[in-house]
Amino acid sequence: AGAVPDAVTTSICGFCSTGCRLRLHLKDGEAIGLTPEARYPVNLGMACPKGWEALAVLDAPDRATVPLLREHANGGLRETTWDHAIGTMVSRFKDIQARHGQESLAFISTGQIPCEEMAFLGALAKFGMGMKHGDGNTRQCMATAVAAYKQSFGFDAPPYTYADFEESDVLVFVGANPAIAHPILWQRVLSNRRSPEIVVIDPRRTETAHSATRHIALKPKGDLWLLYALARCIMDEGRIDQQFLNAHTSGFEEFKTFLANYSPEEVEKHTGLTPDAVRALARLVSDPTKRVSWWWTMGVNQSYEGTRTAQAIINLALMTGNMGKPGTGANSITGQCNAMGSRLFSNTTNLLGGHDFTNPAHREKIARLLGMDESRIQRENGWAYDQIIDGIERGDIKGLWIIATNPSHSWINQGRFQTLRDKLEFLVVQDMYSSTETAQVCDLLLPAAGWGEKEGVFINSERRIGAIRQVRKPPGVALSDFRIFRLLANAWGGDLFAEWTSPEAVFRLLTKITEGQPCDISGISGYEMIDAAGGIQWPYPSNGPDPSRERRLFADGRFYTADQRAKFLFDAPAELLPEEPDGKYPFILLTGRGSSSQWHTQTRTAKSSILRKLSPSELYVDIHPSDAARYGISEHDQVEVVSRRGSLMARAWLTPTMQPGQVFLPMHDSEVNRLTHASFDPHSRQPSYKASAVAIRKY
Ligand code: SF4
Repeated sequence: AGAVPDAVTTSICGFCSTGCRLRLHLKDGEAIGLTPEARYPVNLGMACPKGWEALAVLDAPDRATVPLLREHANGGLRETTWDHAIGTMVSRFKDIQARHGQESLAFISTGQIPCEEMAFLGALAKFGMGMKHGDGNTRQCMATAVAAYKQSFGFDAPPYTYADFEESDVLVFVGANPAIAHPILWQRVLSNRRSPEIVVIDPRRTETAHSATRHIALKPKGDLWLLYALARCIMDEGRIDQQFLNAHTSGFEEFKTFLANYSPEEVEKHTGLTPDAVRALARLVSDPTKRVSWWWTMGVNQSYEGTRTAQAIINLALMTGNMGKPGTGANSITGQCNAMGSRLFSNTTNLLGGHDFTNPAHREKIARLLGMDESRIQRENGWAYDQIIDGIERGDIKGLWIIATNPSHSWINQGRFQTLRDKLEFLVVQDMYSSTETAQVCDLLLPAAGWGEKEGVFINSERRIGAIRQVRKPPGVALSDFRIFRLLANAWGGDLFAEWTSPEAVFRLLTKITEGQPCDISGISGYEMIDAAGGIQWPYPSNGPDPSRERRLFADGRFYTADQRAKFLFDAPAELLPEEPDGKYPFILLTGRGSSSQWHTQTRTAKSSILRKLSPSELYVDIHPSDAARYGISEHDQVEVVSRRGSLMARAWLTPTMQPGQVFLPMHDSEVNRLTHASFDPHSRQPSYKASAVAIRKY
């Protein structure tokens, strides 16, 4: 207390994808406080409560400080040395592969570690250890946007810069609640001086909808129907940008034919919206005098038809020519601090650097640059998260390595994940904390450093690369994930990773790997250049433009497809929800972020007493007052929320922000995914967390 800092450094915040830069105040090389960076072009001097408390969560008593090993199935976790921990992991994994085949191991990683660590993990697991299957918790948040952009634009390329929040005349948020989920980005919307129309399309009257100029309170999962009806109205009223369509897109004629069955009258039973309301919105988003931007997050991504929904948004931006210009775009806002880095460098959905496992030229390039035999690179994509879980259940996967994520809490229908533990011969968890639900049941816990205790780069939602710095020592003998991967690479054997000596050495390797790709960053020389420029958005090829200038994609109308045209993609929506409400389970359960002061499963943020005080102290369920009256439920009563998979107790909050027949639970509580119904988007395999059938009972 009372220490006076003697130096300052900067680092990108390690929670959400906004990518705020923080100034860390140091005393003898250790951070003793922080403030938001005023001159950084992302946060402009602001930080949300999570960012302000970023250091506090490092001091928690349940930090993992030493490797823990369960030597016998029914025994407890006991402290061990790094040598024994790494040796045991290598021998157990090799033994599993010898008995069950190369493909009997898998890993599940995260969007929370820097690009260099993600790349090391993905390369070590797949090229070094011979795993075929690995995925990340980004499957739960961004896989849909990835699939949608790849199919429509030819590459996973969110096109915008944050300046578009301030330069739009009409901002349409679909299934997004930035006032809570991305509070600093929401401040940028509020600083828009063009008197914008702000439209929120969401079943709930969220915090964002409260501040919007228009709230479209549609039925849950009525979004795809509505988006097609908007396209139909725009077409019928001749408000399309024909010049843009002719020059830069393909597939519009087929889309026009498809829209025949999607008049506002025909979709009314699915959207719950009057035809007049739909037509009025269609006129607003196709006004040729206005810059219209579309923004989506988890309401779209976490859906069993999320990819086509995202593409229906993209279609609307294309047909109105709202692409590549200031204040426009079809823009997915990412979730985690390095979800964008995961999309390019985790070596899971894509081969390193946004390459493709199925493309022989890409395999040859990566093998050449990494100095390894091409046969080490698989020729097809590995399994997605849910397929890995299916593989465990079938007995195909016997060894699992989980890094910086907590599926026992976060996986949809979590009860199923929890029952799979006994099917695994060896479960390794690598995490900052020893107390997570998943760490509690592992065979080996590898204690990892957290944000602030290591270095590397994150890539934020607008594709901006920013550097993170080590400003604390990890507790006990915990090591950075990078150093853990280094130990494993040495112990596994082979000479693949001789050049992977430090995060910055790997960063330079990654810049070379991206050369010639849409995400080319070969013009970035290292961390110093990133810091000096105030972060650098990709692409930034050699001899790129001024790195500090903000850049949006597709300003020249050329996309990354073979014919350089963006594609119209569409499918008929499903008539029914995957789990329709019925007499026994009459409510639709919506889940989502409940507080700007908590992060996902609260593994870190629950460690801060300040963040706990800023959030509700117990689990609550939002219920419409008319539903509460029917069930005899009063404000703050304890109610049981029950699905076919389980039940939980929550405090009733009666609120007209809900529509009758719907209830809302914040996703942060460890019990919520006991209830959720597992269904998946067929293109992205992202789970649909937003619509499960439940009953409520007064307790
Ligand atoms: Fe910024 Fe997100 Fe960190 Fe909050 S959590 S300070 S919005 S990066």
